[in-house]
Amino acid sequence: MHTKLFIPGPVDVREDVLEKMSMPQIGHRTKEASELQRRISENMQKIWKTKEQILLSTSSGSGLMEGAIKSCTRKRAAVFSIGTFGTRWYEMAVNNNVEADLFETVKGKATDPDDIDRVLSMGKYDLLAITHNETSTGIANPIDEIAQVMKRYPDVVFCVDMVSSAGGHKLNVDELGIDIAITSSQKCLGIPAGLSICTFSEKAIERAKTVKNRGYYFDLLNIYMYILKKDYQYPSTPSIPHMFALDYQLDYILNVEGIENRFQRHIDMAEIVQNWVREKFDLFGDETHLSRTVTAVKNVRNINVSDLNNELIKRGMMISNGYGDLKEKTFRIAHMADTQIEDINELLNNINDILGI
Ligand SMILES: *Cc1c(COP(=O)(O)O)cnc(C)c1O
Repeated sequence: MHTKLFIPGPVDVREDVLEKMSMPQIGHRTKEASELQRRISENMQKIWKTKEQILLSTSSGSGLMEGAIKSCTRKRAAVFSIGTFGTRWYEMAVNNNVEADLFETVKGKATDPDDIDRVLSMGKYDLLAITHNETSTGIANPIDEIAQVMKRYPDVVFCVDMVSSAGGHKLNVDELGIDIAITSSQKCLGIPAGLSICTFSEKAIERAKTVKNRGYYFDLLNIYMYILKKDYQYPSTPSIPHMFALDYQLDYILNVEGIENRFQRHIDMAEIVQNWVREKFDLFGDETHLSRTVTAVKNVRNINVSDLNNELIKRGMMISNGYGDLKEKTFRIAHMADTQIEDINELLNNINDILGI
């Protein structure tokens, strides 16, 4: 039986999207490959409202995160973390001998834009890495206010992990002044894991040119130069099945569902889940910065989350336990990608039924 996934990635993928993954292969050095990859880039530019170049990577999003911090930090990176994924940027920097400092908030809170201002005003940093939507805590950072602060620091490359929000939460990359926005295929875009996507601004390109050891596979400048020279082809063999699926799905998002409708559906799903949580449990974290794509529930009833999930799986659906040390203390319900309002209601009714609440 198919288990509907209400976990924050990988998400449930529609049958018609899955079918695209099994189409006959094409050569990656053909005109068709160029056209396919150009179309994907142009459609991602529409979703992100950006004129900057799009880079595709056959890796999950972490690959591009590592590539971004390594390719574009010359002096020192300031990493702002509100949870596990934010801290991952810092670990990537340390493991690549990139100079970096980590600024953490307590779990469940967002980053205070004034803290960013205070840290950057020291003049020590030339790259800022931050998470937009922290999947481990269900908190979305106030990206508009953060972007306002960043406008005062034109020499700092602004990198944003949008892995669990892009395609579900409206984010206009150029308006926000983001240099590198990153996402993965298996979250709000609704295709299987294995492909990631980022923007790469003029400023980021100029910076990368001054950085010596940018690595190889995730050297963003090398990828950029290659696609310019070879008409949207990539240095190494990309996952063509993912390209077919993403191409099809982007057309669906832009021309069938409509991007604004998709964003609104995410707002509506989040509201339903949050209201249910307020009634039956408690929300984890700061209510003024709740995520639109995943909700973290404080387990105030002290239920056994694993048992609940086992019962749900028998009924063909699955949620997520809390992440790391938040396991059993919280659990998470994802409401992203192509999940519909009816699916959410069905899930919540089943949880009510299982728990007798
Ligand atoms: C899932 C996730 C990641 C990791 O992405 P992968 O595609 O698994 O590498 C990073 N950041 C956030 C916010 C995520 O939700």
